[in-house]
Amino acid sequence: MSEAGYEVFWKEMISQFRSNLTEQEFSVWFGAMEYLQSGENRVIAAVPSSFYRDQIKTRYQNLIETTLKELTGKDLLVEFEIHPRNRNKSGSDISNEIVKKTESRENGSLFENQREKSAPQTKKPHPQLREDYTFDRYVIGENNNFAANAAMAISRNPGTAYNPFLIYGGVGLGKTHLMQAIGNHIYGNSPNKIIYTTAENFFNEFVQSLNEKGMAAFKNRYRQVDVLLIDDIHFLENKYGIQEELFFTYEALYNAKRQIIFTCDRPVSELKNLTERLRNRFERGLNVDLLPPNYETRFAILKNKVAAGNVEIPDVIIDLISKNISSNIRDLEAALTKLTAFTNMVNQPVTLEQAQHLLRDMFVSPRQANMSIELIQKVVAEYFSLSANDLKSKKRTQNIVFPRQLAMYIVREITEFSTTEIGQVFGGRDHTTVMYSCDKIEEKMKADPTLEPTIESLKRLIKEAGTKL
Ligand code: ADP
Ligand code: MG
Repeated sequence: MSEAGYEVFWKEMISQFRSNLTEQEFSVWFGAMEYLQSGENRVIAAVPSSFYRDQIKTRYQNLIETTLKELTGKDLLVEFEIHPRNRNKSGSDISNEIVKKTESRENGSLFENQREKSAPQTKKPHPQLREDYTFDRYVIGENNNFAANAAMAISRNPGTAYNPFLIYGGVGLGKTHLMQAIGNHIYGNSPNKIIYTTAENFFNEFVQSLNEKGMAAFKNRYRQVDVLLIDDIHFLENKYGIQEELFFTYEALYNAKRQIIFTCDRPVSELKNLTERLRNRFERGLNVDLLPPNYETRFAILKNKVAAGNVEIPDVIIDLISKNISSNIRDLEAALTKLTAFTNMVNQPVTLEQAQHLLRDMFVSPRQANMSIELIQKVVAEYFSLSANDLKSKKRTQNIVFPRQLAMYIVREITEFSTTEIGQVFGGRDHTTVMYSCDKIEEKMKADPTLEPTIESLKRLIKEAGTKL
């Protein structure tokens, strides 16, 4: 079979799926899949992450293979290769490439064909939703592509599947924006009644209605909506009364097939003092996470924000900010706001030197940055019951080699250090060793579906440890 081998059959299968699955299901699972090539008895498709691969294998592998058999008359094995887009290449020469990408499209995402247009503005703005929190303004990178794609699918067909939808992730990573983008899209395209509130506000209203005996009004308000968005549910930890109320609200809406969406600053499993039945309801639908953006996505986000405003900020400065602020998008915005204010004040474009000076307090100092490698070493070492010194040592036993490679990989993922710098902090190793280690981990991730979740939870542990410093 040639490269194109079974491609026509693949396409036919995809179009059958398009008509047989719900639009939401189709776009979540098949919108991101691409045909790659065929061999004698197999077909290989690309998917964006091991999460996708595992989900697709359990949900659809049989169906895909049976459909292909009906179409080709052959028993074909379908395999999935992970082709993440936007790997963090770290280095300055990629900015031009990104500028081009950003200008033409959104950051080379796998989902570019599914971008939503802004909601048509025929109605007056929704009283609780920010008008600028739309999909149009939401830049998609590898940190949020699954979440954003699922959100777009839900906004097209609320209440049909993935109920509830829960978005979790650290502060400033775009949870509220994404949640409200769903709200704005539904609001602009349907007569559905939408309520957005924070868990804190939900709690306050509940308490007030207790005092005023306005319970019936409260229940009415929240149980008769088509779409309920509740932001920051971690606020409900320890508050059992409101948890009960939310549980009943949930049941009423869920049974009536109304869409419910939550956000939370951590995975639901890590929430404390939460009733089991509510935890179970939170986890029932689809839970997706938002991770910190990589350099390319940070660049794209800033580029977008600059384009949306009317102040000129040169690309070298966008590059400077993207390299030095990696925590979250809110911090990126704060840097931009500072430069914009300055530009408006002096009435001329800010120079690189001025930007460096103005933003110096916002940038992580080299000392802090160095601590971040040590912190990663410490957390990874503890996770494997080793010491940080083991990771820096020359020891080559397997129980140390793997954690060491993993630690290097994570440093490379979440910091901007060069492979040379990383090698130095790992006992003066050569940069090629660091590169080799990262390749090894990527290879292992392909073979072992449990590795990516392990890495994600390590990253979370590192972040938590970082905030406690
Ligand atoms: P969270 O709710 O997770 O704390 P927000 O949704 O408030 O974060 O996002 C913080 C800021 O970053 C907002 O101004 C939001 O518009 C912006 N932002 C977040 N993610 C993106 C993105 N992917 N593209 C563009 N802007 C984003
Ligand atoms: Mg928020």
